[in-house]
Amino acid sequence: MNKLIILFFLVLGLNGCVTPAKQPLQSPLGLIENPIVDSDITLEEALRKEAPAEFKARQRMVNVFYYSFDGKIHRGQVVIEERLAGEIEEVFQVALENKFPITSVIPISHDRFFSNGKWNEDDLSMHSNNTSAFNYRKVTGGNSLSRHAYGYAIDINPVQNPYIKGGVVLPAGAVYDPRQPGTLTPDCPVVKTFLRLGWTWGGNWHSLKDYQHFEKVLSE
Ligand SMILES: [Zn+2]
Repeated sequence: MNKLIILFFLVLGLNGCVTPAKQPLQSPLGLIENPIVDSDITLEEALRKEAPAEFKARQRMVNVFYYSFDGKIHRGQVVIEERLAGEIEEVFQVALENKFPITSVIPISHDRFFSNGKWNEDDLSMHSNNTSAFNYRKVTGGNSLSRHAYGYAIDINPVQNPYIKGGVVLPAGAVYDPRQPGTLTPDCPVVKTFLRLGWTWGGNWHSLKDYQHFEKVLSE
């Protein structure tokens, strides 16, 4: 490849999803040694929000590293069904290698999502563009249990990747624009990795779009 073509691919990001320009390159060792810690709670703390014991018993804590929008490596935590923990690690490794920016990865039972005397359902997390998985709650706009209640689903960068059904957009005011960094698209390595591992992406749904959402439903 000549230099011009290489430059072209570098500008494109090569990987199909846009990454922020001019991210500082540092040695991985230095970065991993001093990550910005977004979440560092125990599994017990991460399971404080009310849920049936049998649902809580299946959840595991996965510590993950990711580039945030400041171009620095952060450390956060995902609460996910135990059988999916390894796959979540794999996806976050791909996101890190591709410098796919993720704002924060903080469990829904973290102190910052406790307001007015109760744990927030989801909207505080969504509005702060937080990535989270396990959350004992009902589906958006329905009465059945969400896949998140089982730890079978994760939402990534909700602000760049909103839920869209007719005129309803969540979080409110969010816009899906594949040109923006942190947006999930069919070409994005994060999306490709989830699909390869057998997960379903809400961006491929037809009756509604839930671009932030990935799920893998396991049999009991
Ligand atoms: Zn979701």
